[in-house]
Amino acid sequence: MFRALLLAPPGAGKGTQGERLAERHGVPHLATGDLLREHVANGTDLGVAAKEHMDAGGLVPDDLVISMVTEALGGRTPIQNFLLDGFPRTLAQAKGAYEWGRKKNRTFDVVIMLDVPEDELVRRLVERGQASGRSDDTEDVIRNRLHVYEENTAPLIEFYDERGILVRIDGLGTVDEVTERIEKGIAPFVSDD
Ligand code: AMP
Repeated sequence: MFRALLLAPPGAGKGTQGERLAERHGVPHLATGDLLREHVANGTDLGVAAKEHMDAGGLVPDDLVISMVTEALGGRTPIQNFLLDGFPRTLAQAKGAYEWGRKKNRTFDVVIMLDVPEDELVRRLVERGQASGRSDDTEDVIRNRLHVYEENTAPLIEFYDERGILVRIDGLGTVDEVTERIEKGIAPFVSDD
């Protein structure tokens, strides 16, 4: 039983920590940003619809993202355990995911919130933009993505806290330190069998 969500602003280390946690616990790492970038690269209908939102640092419309994720999880071989990274990102997505999860018996066991101060987020994202050339890692798009996070995604913290499954983790420090903090924090909520 390992159904986890990584909830954090851009630059907090979701991608890095997500990959590690998924590997350690033997579950798929589903990162909606990666899935969407793949659609853009392949020029699918979804990719075409998503690109302008992504380039501006805005959000891809809820209905498109919800169907992308529920299809990925509910395909021919339904995925029972998973680490989701970057979805849900709005209250509408969270409610959609909850309804779907209730029907399928697959609601989140734990939500991991990574806490990193804004200055550090901007510093990391600018650095990543220089290294990776990601089109949404330029300074004004970064500011917009942080604003979008505060506005749309931060309210999810309360939504999951009220359900008693939110774990807050200090996201400063080395990658290993943060991984260990996460492991300690989530231990009461998940199991690997
Ligand atoms: P990320 O790699 O998680 O930073 O996501 C990159 C971009 O993909 C975001 O800035 C959004 O434009 C889009 N995106 C990823 N996940 C979602 C989501 N759950 N809802 C809406 N847009 C998303």
